[in-house]
Amino acid sequence: MNQDSPRYSPIELPAAAKPPRELVNSLVEAAARAHGHLCPGQVIGVRMAILGLRLLDYACPLGYPEIKNLMGFVEIERCLADAVASATGLRFGRGSLKLVDQGLLAATFLDMPSDRAVRILSRDDARDKAAEYAPAEANAHAAQTEAYRVMPDDQLFDAAWVSVDRSRFLAPGQRPPKVPCASCGVLVRSGQARSGPGGPLCAVCAGDAYFKPLRPEET
Ligand SMILES: [Zn+2]
Ligand SMILES: [Zn+2]
Repeated sequence: MNQDSPRYSPIELPAAAKPPRELVNSLVEAAARAHGHLCPGQVIGVRMAILGLRLLDYACPLGYPEIKNLMGFVEIERCLADAVASATGLRFGRGSLKLVDQGLLAATFLDMPSDRAVRILSRDDARDKAAEYAPAEANAHAAQTEAYRVMPDDQLFDAAWVSVDRSRFLAPGQRPPKVPCASCGVLVRSGQARSGPGGPLCAVCAGDAYFKPLRPEET
């Protein structure tokens, strides 16, 4: 690893520490049901959630009302994101979980009252050790799914204290004013109006939408 890369404040995870197997199994079972299949990503996401919340002194899943203290950030739009949502109770639909797709197998958990945040990054070399922890499994996929339940935290993850720029994100439940688009009149929500020469524009009128409207002859 390049020593100059921004690796911030690593957390020394206690050697051989891991969460209780029964807790992992029950959260993995629920995550797999919600996700649609059991996969290594469900187990990694569950372990990541348990570790991240524990480092912030919270139990996983989060109870009420402490769930209101937390925000989560997942860095990839894949299996892992569903598992973190399922295990923690944080949700995209409530604004308590954010997808920041950086293509990294990582998640950050932010305790809003204290502003402390911990980032958990999956270690690539965990895959090479899977067979050692699950020798009875026939194939790599099954070995990973089993091994990741029991591997120590420090073999699975790197953890670090980080600072999150909260100004980039809406807080859970935060609703900025609805702004009418100066061109088409549609109400733009969630602070997503673009600025145009004649006033605020919706993403479509600003030419900034993820789709392109089709002319009748193109349909
Ligand atoms: Zn999956
Ligand atoms: Zn518009």
